[in-house]
Amino acid sequence: MRRRKDDEPPVPEDCTTCGACCFSTLPEYIRVFGIDHERMDDTAQALTHFVGNRCFMKIEDGHCAALRLDPVEGRFLCSIYAMRPDCCRALDRGSGACRGELHEKRERPLIALERLRRG
Ligand code: SF4
Ligand code: SF4
Repeated sequence: MRRRKDDEPPVPEDCTTCGACCFSTLPEYIRVFGIDHERMDDTAQALTHFVGNRCFMKIEDGHCAALRLDPVEGRFLCSIYAMRPDCCRALDRGSGACRGELHEKRERPLIALERLRRG
């Protein structure tokens, strides 16, 4: 069994208590390919933007614009879950990519929740 280094955050049991991989300040963070865009309804497409001829999820307040934060329950929910892009589907909880996201960004969702709670 792989041992966790002391400075690595544990992998959450449930992604809705985490949300780290939905956080970024980069406007070209979540790529939306043609097949992803076709899957989306008008509401979901309104959360995307183009950089040149390439499409991405919009970023708002340091996270994907589709992410909904629930400060009461402490949850992070994708508002377009059934229509989310393939790159989001490909990121498995507990994978190396997930652990990398946690290592880089685990604090960001917690800070964002705290900010909302304080109003
Ligand atoms: S895949 Fe990993 S980083 Fe993303 S929400 Fe789930 S536990 Fe957090
Ligand atoms: S589309 Fe959903 S799963 Fe993908 S980054 Fe945005 S909020 Fe997260």
